[in-house]
Amino acid sequence: MARILDGKVIAAAVKQDLAMEIAQLREKEVQPKLVVVLVGDDAASASYVRSKERMARELGLEAEVIKLSADVSESELMRQIELQNADDSVDAVLVQLPLPEHIDTDWVLMGVDPTKDVDGFHPQNIGRYAIGSPLVWPCTTAGILEILERANAPVAGQTAVVVGRSRIVGWPTAQLLLAHNATVVQCHRQTRNLAEFTRQADILVVAAGQAGLIRADDVKAGAVVIDVGINRVDGHLVGDVDFDSVVQKAGAITPVPGGVGPLTVAMLMKNTVRLARIRRLTKEDE
Ligand code: NDP
Repeated sequence: MARILDGKVIAAAVKQDLAMEIAQLREKEVQPKLVVVLVGDDAASASYVRSKERMARELGLEAEVIKLSADVSESELMRQIELQNADDSVDAVLVQLPLPEHIDTDWVLMGVDPTKDVDGFHPQNIGRYAIGSPLVWPCTTAGILEILERANAPVAGQTAVVVGRSRIVGWPTAQLLLAHNATVVQCHRQTRNLAEFTRQADILVVAAGQAGLIRADDVKAGAVVIDVGINRVDGHLVGDVDFDSVVQKAGAITPVPGGVGPLTVAMLMKNTVRLARIRRLTKEDE
């Protein structure tokens, strides 16, 4: 029976460490500040932004939400982002996705100052993952590393298989595992015989958005299985991994809900603190 990697417990430990780190920064008169730009009134986005704001305040971070109407022009949205780029009190800028259809998301994300790009989606940061040293890893990817580290799961030398190659999760996660010296295979919809690859994984990360994609037969005995997927089936949230069968065979597994999800917002806070440290502290201060 696999060890259950409880994301809520791990996120609580991350938050406890962060609250201490933020208190120490404030003693040095560094007050990290996160700005979230929210466009439109999508209920799910508004609820994610509220939880980000709540956690920031709970930890002693300054957080501001800039709300813009759904019909805001691209140039007005860009102007708002540029104001945050220019504001020296702001360390981290996040544009809540998805943006309305009339807005070119890539162009907007390129408008965020790369040194304040807390989501790690700016092409300059993406280029830095390719050489293994971004300012920050995207929050979900960073959360996966936090889970592996806090579970004492070795990464270097392990065979890691990542199912999914999206810009938000799959691709950066494969880059992170490679940067930590795993041997990485990245799978996607065109991968032939997916199970042949997943069965070789010591670390299996599944971020496909397909309920039940991975079953016990697709997993190596003793593997660490990280299920990123969030799917709604018959009114319940489930991952991409068939938890009930895989839990019998894996060595460790993240549940859905309560696995990777709770880490994602905590890592946003950790990324904000990291950007504040980089911007405001000299080597001597550190
Ligand atoms: P995308 O839809 O952008 O990407 C899905 C990826 O999975 C694509 O690369 C796709 O391949 C691949 N894929 C889909 N089906 C299969 C399949 N049958 N076999 C192999 N590969 C497949 O999704 P995201 O990356 O944004 O999100 C993935 C999942 O993670 C979703 O369920 C999402 O809700 C969840 N999520 C969870 C978060 C959390 O905090 N827990 C945060 C972000 C996302 P191809 O490129 O060929 O199309």
